[in-house]
Order: sequence, then C-alpha cells, then structure tokens
Amino acid sequence: KERHYSMMIRARIPGGLLSSEQYLVFDRLADEYTDYKTMRITTRQTLQLHGILKGDLKTTIKTLNDALVTTLGACGDSGRNTICCAEPGDEPFREEMRHDVLALADRLSAKTNAYHEIWIDGEPVQLAEDETEEPLYGEVYLPRKFKVAIVPEGDNCLDVYDNDIGLVAHIRDGHIEGYTVLVGGGMGRMALDQDTYPRLASPLCYVARNEAVGTILDACVAIVTIERDFGDRSNRRFARMKYLIDKRGLAWFRDEVEARLGHKLEPPRQLTWTNGNDHLGWHRERDGVSYLGLFVPYGRIKDTETMQLKSALRDIMHRFRPTVRFTSQQNVILSGLPDEQRSAVEEVLRSSGVPLPQELSNVQQNMMACVSLPTCGLALAESERALPELVPQFERLFDVLGLSDENITIRMTGCSNGCARPYNANIAFIGRAPGKYDIFLGGSALGTALNERFRDTVPFKDLVSAVRPVLESFIQDREPGEDFGTYWLRTGAGGHRG
Ligand code: SF4
Repeated sequence: KERHYSMMIRARIPGGLLSSEQYLVFDRLADEYTDYKTMRITTRQTLQLHGILKGDLKTTIKTLNDALVTTLGACGDSGRNTICCAEPGDEPFREEMRHDVLALADRLSAKTNAYHEIWIDGEPVQLAEDETEEPLYGEVYLPRKFKVAIVPEGDNCLDVYDNDIGLVAHIRDGHIEGYTVLVGGGMGRMALDQDTYPRLASPLCYVARNEAVGTILDACVAIVTIERDFGDRSNRRFARMKYLIDKRGLAWFRDEVEARLGHKLEPPRQLTWTNGNDHLGWHRERDGVSYLGLFVPYGRIKDTETMQLKSALRDIMHRFRPTVRFTSQQNVILSGLPDEQRSAVEEVLRSSGVPLPQELSNVQQNMMACVSLPTCGLALAESERALPELVPQFERLFDVLGLSDENITIRMTGCSNGCARPYNANIAFIGRAPGKYDIFLGGSALGTALNERFRDTVPFKDLVSAVRPVLESFIQDREPGEDFGTYWLRTGAGGHRG
C-alpha cells in the first residue's frame, strides 16, 4: 500500500492577477483537497496550496488548468512567476506593464508538452516537427531558477533589485517610454558558506519600448541565454546569475548581451525611489471606482476563531466580483469596486473580524515571514508561526520609543535562503537552528540597500531585547527625518555592530 505523500502546489500567476471566478476555484480546492484548508500568498504574487495528497494532485492541477491557471514554471530551473507592481489605475502605462508582463511570462515559459500529457488529460500532445525542441531552455534548462520583475520608476513595492532581471519602467505622458534593465539580484545565501551572499541587481542598460515591445523581450531573452550558457552547472550554490556577473564582471556581461542582440546598449538611466509600501487601504482606481489593498497576515488566507478572512474574501468574490491582485508583500488588492460598494465590502470585513489597513500598526503593515515550518522541508526554525509572537512586543517597544509612525520593515525566515527577502529589511531574523536566529540590521524600506549581520544564533526570547539598544541609539542620534537604514549606513550603527 502506497504512503500518503503530501505535496504543495504553486500556481504561476503573472503579475498576480486573477478573476474572482479563478480565485474561487483556488478557494474550493483548498477546502476539498488540502490538509490545512488554507491558501498562502507568496512573495512572487502567486498562491500555494499546502498539504495535497499525491493521489489528488492530478485532479487539483487539471481543475486549475480548466480555470485557465497553470502551475507550469512556478517552480524549477526556468523563468519563475514574472512579477509586476500590482497597483491598479487608469493610466495607460499600467495596461502596458500588464501587456509586457504577460508577454515576458509567455516568452520565458517552457514549451514542454510533457506537462500537459502528465497533468491534464494523459493524451500525447502532437507537435509539429519544428516545435519538438525547447527553444529557449534546450535539453537542460537553466542552471537555477530565474526571476524577473517589473515596476514603474519610483515605486519599489516589490523589491525589484532582488531579481535576476529587474525592469524599471520610465513613464512619459502616461506611457512607458522604455526600461532601465537591472541584472544579477538574488537573496539566497548559505549560512555556513561565506562565499554565498545576497546581491542587489546592477543597472545594465536602458531599452526603449517600441510598439511591439520586441526590444525589451529580446533583451531579456539574451540575458537568460547568457545565464543558460555560462551559469555554473557544477555547483548549485553558485548557479544563480549574480555569481556569474560577479565572476566575469558587468562589462563582460554587457558585451555578451550586445553580441547576442547585434547592437550597442544605451546606458541605464538614473533611478529615484519614493515608495516601498504595498498600496494598502482604499484608493481611487478611476472615476467612480476604487480598489482596496487588504492586509493578509503572513500571506495566509485562512479562517480562525477571531478572524474569518477566507470566508470574507469568498463572500466578497461572490457578491462584488472584484479583480484580484496578489502583491509581492503577500497581501491582496481587490480592484474594480464601484464606490457605492465600499461600505458593503467594509461591512463584510468587519463582521468577519478582518481589520482594515488603517486599523493596523506600522509594525504589522511592514512585516513579512516566509512559510517555514511545518511545510517547508528546508526550514531550520519557525517563521510564519513565530513572527506573530514578536509583533506585539515590537508594537509596545515602538510605542515606548516613539517610533510608531516610522516605516521600519521587519522580516523573518526559517533559514538563510531568504524567501521573504530578509536581506533588504531594516530588521531581519533568519533561522539558524530550532529557536535560534541570526539578526541582520540596516537595509532599506525602499528596497535599495542590503542589511548587515548584527548578531548570530540569538534565542527567540531575546530577539527584541537584542535589537532595542540599536533602536534607542537611532532615536538619540538620527539626523532630522533620517530613516533607520540610512542611519545605520551613516553611523556604523553607533558601534553596535557585532
Ligand atoms: Fe523554507 Fe527557508 Fe524559504 Fe523559509 S526561507 S520558506 S525556511 S527555504
């Protein structure tokens, strides 16, 4: 008799956008086929269903496919879910970004027929002779996963510098004029291997967006093929493109892109950033229509005794049919809501115990945790189940210190892989062993700087007290208006570095 193996399914949802009907399919599958009856929003704007028995995998994937959602390319050594700022609006550039994220997702998608044969209907897919080869990935795919993100300039809600390719859209007269292309970002490191490290992407070039968007697609494909051809396939630890760029140099990388494109690249443009938050709360989307950015604690859509978030969202989908946009900070935006429905939506949330973002502290709105235990096999320490204990402690501390109005980001992960992008955070707790965490401080709420190691293997109960003296020094020694990350960089944190 076969064991009851339990699996996780992750969908690929470019830009995190679903219809209400598609969302309700996930909701039903979570109830019918998962152990936990929950859904988990990820930092790549998609959904994970945890605890699906092996025997139910095919039904689950086929049901998603029938709802026009795929899981192909959500994992594996190929282009992962392409992410995009989720903010809705009626400016033309938002539709253009949406167009480009879909075009990129399609171009970076594997053309395999095996996926459909195995998961959809068991029928061999008949391909024409010239379609039988994997055009981008060949026989061996990429050395490692590959991440692409798109944001409008100024709005770094999704940490664009943490991606293998980051595209920053320059807007003129409401349209995308072109993109500054960043390359070589990535969060992962191994705690015990000092040769591995997180890295922010480097500005490579500027690419104008022509009408067919062919230029930016071609540039991205050229970059992917360089990683495919030169990325380290002998040691998975060093297989991400960031190591290739540091090993060979950005000049070599630029030459290689130019050779593949057959023309010179324009220099990147200067970038400025003004926003790192996640578009929470009510905002105007267009005349008479609003969107609501709803905070989802730890990205977990579930019902508890005190808060029935899953039921509330199901009710809202049935009654108001908003478009769903998952954000890269693990929240959800409900868009396309006529203004006259706002109070009815709020009533559903209130009666289900779901707070509106303005009722939450800054600490809550600026925190993130990875999944970790019990479902991540790589976890060394708790994360999603541990951070809720720290939040009230930090709220009290911030109150006492007068920091409640500050945007100080706090992120926790169960290991050094960095799935919740901890190395950008102002305060990061990174699981090292059961109940023990490394603390990293500095970073940037705008996602433009990495933090630094502060203390190693600190017991969970001591995490808040370990950080407190640094926050006290920050209050005392900061320049007027200076944020925590800038203060840390300027002062060397007042001698607190461990
Ligand atoms: Fe798992 Fe580590 Fe990623 Fe957390 S950071 S989800 S523990 S691999």
